[in-house]
Amino acid sequence: MLPVIALLGRPNVGKSTLFNQLTRSRDALVADTPGLTRDRQYGIGRAGPGPYVVIDTGGIGESERPVETLMEQQSLRALEEADVAIFVVDGQQGMTPADETLAHAFRRQKKPIILAVNKSEGQARESVTAEFHALALGEPQAISAYKGRGIIPLIEQALSHVPHAEAHDAASDYSEAGVRVAVIGRPNVGKSTLINRWLGDERMVASDEPGTTRDSVRVPFSREGRDYVLVDTAGVRRRAKVSEHIEKLSVVKTLQAIEDANVVVALVDGSEGVTDQDASIMGLALQAGRAMVVAVNKWDGLSPERRQRTKAEIDLKLPFLGFAKQHFISAVHGTGVGELLGSVDEAWEAANRDMPTPVLTRALEDAISRHAPPVTRSHRIKLRYAHQGGKNPPRIVIHGNQTERTPRAYRRYLENYFRQTFDLQGTPVEIEFRTTD
Ligand code: GDP
Ligand code: GDP
Repeated sequence: MLPVIALLGRPNVGKSTLFNQLTRSRDALVADTPGLTRDRQYGIGRAGPGPYVVIDTGGIGESERPVETLMEQQSLRALEEADVAIFVVDGQQGMTPADETLAHAFRRQKKPIILAVNKSEGQARESVTAEFHALALGEPQAISAYKGRGIIPLIEQALSHVPHAEAHDAASDYSEAGVRVAVIGRPNVGKSTLINRWLGDERMVASDEPGTTRDSVRVPFSREGRDYVLVDTAGVRRRAKVSEHIEKLSVVKTLQAIEDANVVVALVDGSEGVTDQDASIMGLALQAGRAMVVAVNKWDGLSPERRQRTKAEIDLKLPFLGFAKQHFISAVHGTGVGELLGSVDEAWEAANRDMPTPVLTRALEDAISRHAPPVTRSHRIKLRYAHQGGKNPPRIVIHGNQTERTPRAYRRYLENYFRQTFDLQGTPVEIEFRTTD
C-alpha cells in the first residue's frame, strides 16, 4: 500500500503549490477533471522517492464557522487518513498565532509531523527557520514550493517515518501473474457483485470465511485461458446481499488500488446515472495515467428512457474518458462481465503498444498532410518527427519548431490521429512537443 502524506497549514502558505509540485507529472491529463472534495484534494505524488498519496487541505473560508476551528478540524481529519504530515508555514510572513494554534493541536497527535518553512528562496536557511523551532515540532526544513527547492529531502524525511514504505515497484511481477485489475466506483455501484462474478461462486463462499481472503490485497483468477489479478479486493470480502450498510468512499484506498493496477475498471450505476462523485473518482485514475474501461452496471431492467439518459450523462460528465471503451453490464445476472475482461486485455495492450519512430513519424506526416497546423501570428508551426517517449501510458514526443504555439484543438486532432493509427483505445495518451532548435 502506498504511504499517505497530508499537507497541513494555514491558507496561503503554499500547500497547493507544494501539492502541484509533488503530483505534477501528469498535469496535461488532469487539467479538465473535476475535484473530489472542496476541502481536500488527493493525488499521487511522484517527486522524490514516490509514489505516495498526497492529501492537500485547503478551501477554507466558505463557511461561517471561525476559520481557525475549521482549519484545525480539516487538518485533523486529513491527519487521520495519513501516515505522516507535512506542516507548512510561511517563511516570508514569519510565525503567526494560527501556526501556534495548529502546532499545539498537532503535537497532541500520535502521527509524525515534519515542519516545512516555505517561501524560503533568497533567504539564509538558518535565519528563515530560526523562529519556528518554537513550535516544538523538530528541526524545521527550509523549502521553496514555488521553485521546487528542498522538496526531495523533505519527502525523504517524511517517508522515513513510514514503516514498510519501501520502494514500490509496480512493474516487477505482473508479467507472469496476469493483468492487474482494480474495480473502482462509488459505494453501492456493484463492485463486489462484479468481482464475485469474475471469481465465481467457489471463491465467493471461501471469501465469507473469516481470514481467507480478508487480508489479501491481490487475488489471482483466470478466465477463458487468461490470467488476471484483482487488486485491493475489499469487495471480495462480503457477499453483496449480506451487507446492509453502505460503505463510505475511501479516496485513499481508491488511489492505492489505482496505483497498484495495470487497468482500472470504472464502474458506474446505470440506474442512477453519472454523478459528480463518479466523475471525480474517474479523474483520479486518469491522473495516474491508467488504462481504463468504463462499465455501466445494473443495466438489467432499465427503461429505454433511463438508458438513454445515462448514456447522455456519460458523454456529458465523463468527456475525459472518451478513450475508454464502454460496457453496459449486469453484474447480478453476469451479462457482459466476460466481454468486459476482453476490453481490459485490449486496454493493457494499447497502453504498452510499441510505436517505432519511423512509423510514428509517417503517421505525423500523414496527419499534417491531411490537415496542416494553423499559421499563428505569421509563424508556421513546423512538426518534423515523432518518437515514443514512454509506455503505460503511451507518450508521443513531437519535435519541431514553434511547437509551443500548437493550439489545443490541433493537439487533440493529432492525438486522435495517433489513436486511430496505433489502435490506442483504452489508454490515455500523452503528447509532448519539443522545439529542437
Ligand atoms: P495554500 O493556500 O496554502 O494552498 O497556498 P497556495 O499554494 O495557494 O499559495 C499561496 C501563495 O503563495 C500563492 O500566491 C503562491 O504563488 C505563493 N507561494 C507558494 N509557494 C511559494 C514559494 O515557495 N515562494 C514564494 N515566494 N511564494 C510561494
Ligand atoms: P459495492 O458497494 O460497489 O461493492 O456494491 P455491491 O456489489 O455491494 O452492490 C450494491 C447493491 O447493488 C446490491 O444490493 C447488489 O445486489 C446491487 N447490484 C449489483 N449489481 C447489480 C446489477 O447488475 N443489477 C442490479 N439490478 N442490481 C445490482
